[in-house]
Amino acid sequence: MKTVTILGATGSVGTSTLDLIERAPEQFEVLALTANRDAKGLAAAAIRTNAKRAVVADEAALPELRAALAGTGIDTAGGTQAVCDTATLGADWTMAAIVGCAGLRPVTAALEQGGTVVLANKEPLVSAGALVIETAARHGATLLPADSEHNAIFQCFDSARADRVRRVILTASGGPFRDATLDEMRRVTPEQAVAHPNWSMGAKISVDSATMMNKGLELIEAARLFPVRADQIEIIVHRQSVIHSMVEYVDGSILAQLGPSDMRTPIAHTLAWPDRMDTAMAPLDFAALGRLDFEAPDLERFPALRLAREALEADGARPAIFNAANEIAVAAFLARAIGFLEIAAIVADTLARYAPAAPDSIDAVLAIDAEARAIAGERVKDCVA
Ligand code: NAD
Ligand code: MG
Repeated sequence: MKTVTILGATGSVGTSTLDLIERAPEQFEVLALTANRDAKGLAAAAIRTNAKRAVVADEAALPELRAALAGTGIDTAGGTQAVCDTATLGADWTMAAIVGCAGLRPVTAALEQGGTVVLANKEPLVSAGALVIETAARHGATLLPADSEHNAIFQCFDSARADRVRRVILTASGGPFRDATLDEMRRVTPEQAVAHPNWSMGAKISVDSATMMNKGLELIEAARLFPVRADQIEIIVHRQSVIHSMVEYVDGSILAQLGPSDMRTPIAHTLAWPDRMDTAMAPLDFAALGRLDFEAPDLERFPALRLAREALEADGARPAIFNAANEIAVAAFLARAIGFLEIAAIVADTLARYAPAAPDSIDAVLAIDAEARAIAGERVKDCVA
């Protein structure tokens, strides 16, 4: 039996993780589940999985959670500190599936307990980079990537021969606007942006896929997770999302991981690793698929890719500013306060306006994150005015 905790259990990745665990109840024991404020969804999942503890980050949702779990014997708590405390209950396997840099403290707390921590939540790795990796190393924690591209790279990357890797090739679906003109993109609505052609995901990452900020975040994520230089990581648009990423070696061999565009496959890989588990996923039908297409990304329509690469190459505080400004801009776009193309403009402006020294602690990252959010927030107000 593996003990499991899911941070962000009510979201898209959290729900996929629960689905796998609930299909194999003899293999997993749920220690704790957390959510932001969906008390009803969290309580239902806690009851189904017989979890020991359920925690909401938003304390205002705690009375509802308590009421929903009254008489079940499931322990409840509320607040961001309670989420961090829950991350250190000693689970063998923790899924980090909170969205945004809000997951940074819970992720580092989980790493400090030294088990296996699976990262879907990419923003903390982008913002705090080396500090997160160092925390894992210091506490003997195993960090496994659930993001489909990074999980694919992990499966193809021969770490004993890292010096024989020539390129890491990150595939991108291109999102819902891959064929749209700039003029069409100017007018898109939140509903159009969250309707991803291949994947079903939370609202924030869906908008990130539409702007290709997601691929920018993933470029930085790849540089954090694997021993390669920024210039060894290439992005290619592959609209079918069947090849999840590739690793090329110096002899010309390229290893790729293929699979359905369903997060349950990469999550299952991390749940069973180094073993494999059955997911009952339908086999890929190559004849029905017919073809796989590839094209170079368009940096004019998707400036996020250029901004991310610049942030990664300069490193220091740049990735944290890039991420924080994007979180603010995406929230403003979803609230219909700004247009779609303003998302990248706000990120670029925030990066231009703010140049603090490189952070040397998680606290310093969070201070930079907060200041970048404030600057991006001002820029949102300018757009509205
Ligand atoms: P989501 O919005 O569907 O779910 C987010 C979860 O985090 C929910 O359980 C929510 O209650 C919780 N949460 C939100 N804000 C919080 C806060 N401030 N404090 C504590 N908990 C909070 O998001 P998602 O699509 O599941 O994505 C989660 C993370 O995984 C993101 O970082 C995303 O980039 C990454 N990811 C998602 C997918 C996918 O297919 N959805 C794929 C790869 C990576
Ligand atoms: Mg991904």
